[in-house]
Amino acid sequence: MATIRSCVRKMTGYVPGGSAKDPRTIKLNQNENRYPPSPQVAEAIQSAMMQLNRYPDSASLSLRRAAAEMYGVTVEEVMATNGSDEMLLLFFRCCCSPGDEAVGFYPGYTYYATLAAMNDVRYRLIELTDEFRLPKRLNPGDAKLVFLANPHAPTGTLFPEGDVRRLIESIPDGLVVIDEAYADFSGATVIPLLRDYPNLAVVRTFSKGYALAGLRVGLGFARKEILEQFEKVRDFYNLDRLAQAGAEAALRDREWLRKTTAKVIASRERTAEGIARLGFKVYASASNFIFFRSSGDVEAERIFASLLRRNIMVRHFRDRKVSDCLRVSVGTDDDMDAFLDGLARAKEEAD
Ligand SMILES: *Cc1c(COP(=O)(O)O)cnc(C)c1O
Repeated sequence: MATIRSCVRKMTGYVPGGSAKDPRTIKLNQNENRYPPSPQVAEAIQSAMMQLNRYPDSASLSLRRAAAEMYGVTVEEVMATNGSDEMLLLFFRCCCSPGDEAVGFYPGYTYYATLAAMNDVRYRLIELTDEFRLPKRLNPGDAKLVFLANPHAPTGTLFPEGDVRRLIESIPDGLVVIDEAYADFSGATVIPLLRDYPNLAVVRTFSKGYALAGLRVGLGFARKEILEQFEKVRDFYNLDRLAQAGAEAALRDREWLRKTTAKVIASRERTAEGIARLGFKVYASASNFIFFRSSGDVEAERIFASLLRRNIMVRHFRDRKVSDCLRVSVGTDDDMDAFLDGLARAKEEAD
């Protein structure tokens, strides 16, 4: 034990949303995409399989070219990583020394805190307003890193570009990381702001919009001077051949993305109305999930348990400011009908 760093011994590991044992479970707890990925992905992976005897391209150049083209940046301004998780880890490994501070927002994505802990970095939270908006007073102090998911998780809130600018300008000596894991559903991105700000980085993932959570591919966007350094630190063969080929095919099939996100958004709006009709407070979502508030912790807990008995998994954060809230991922229309039906019954039982 003495050989294990104390920051590692002290930390608690990240607990993800949890997988389902029963294949009939309607799994609406991890914001995965319920639609299969583009058929072009399977085709590309199939042909890449014939070359598995060869090491992959360490630079993921072909994938990065496709991403650069799509997002209007140069190849040097984008890097490809093993899920966006690897990209998020690189910020800590490249920007922080033990004892440094990183800042996030509360409520927010808790994985940033786990990454901070394992790198012996202090992690401080700034509270969002009661409506989950960016507060007027931002105090990033001397943080090396600031993380903001936009659209936000777990609330689904879309922060306007002006908010992002205000955040970046509030911390000229630190790097602001905008985590756009759900931006395929909002259509809004701050990648073009890289031209205005050297201290901005943007992270994207193929896990949500592109329905490729199982493939593990993410993208990081920042100025060339930053990514040059990151490239030295990442795993040398961080993306295998199948991941590179699959992700590139996914990026190039824009029609699939357009159709699938349109379906998800239509189901989201319909479901949000259904939840509101049952008397819950629903927060506006620009993502593929809905965050809503019940009348209290006890009701939220009961609804969560009641849905689970009906084999429907949602997420309940047993956490100070949001312990009365539930989050449901947007699945197919059939999933959402089953969910709304289960929610109505659960509410009757809980009342
Ligand atoms: C899902 C999610 C990610 C994780 O993306 P991976 O690419 O699967 O690692 C990152 N950030 C937020 C806010 C997410 O919700």
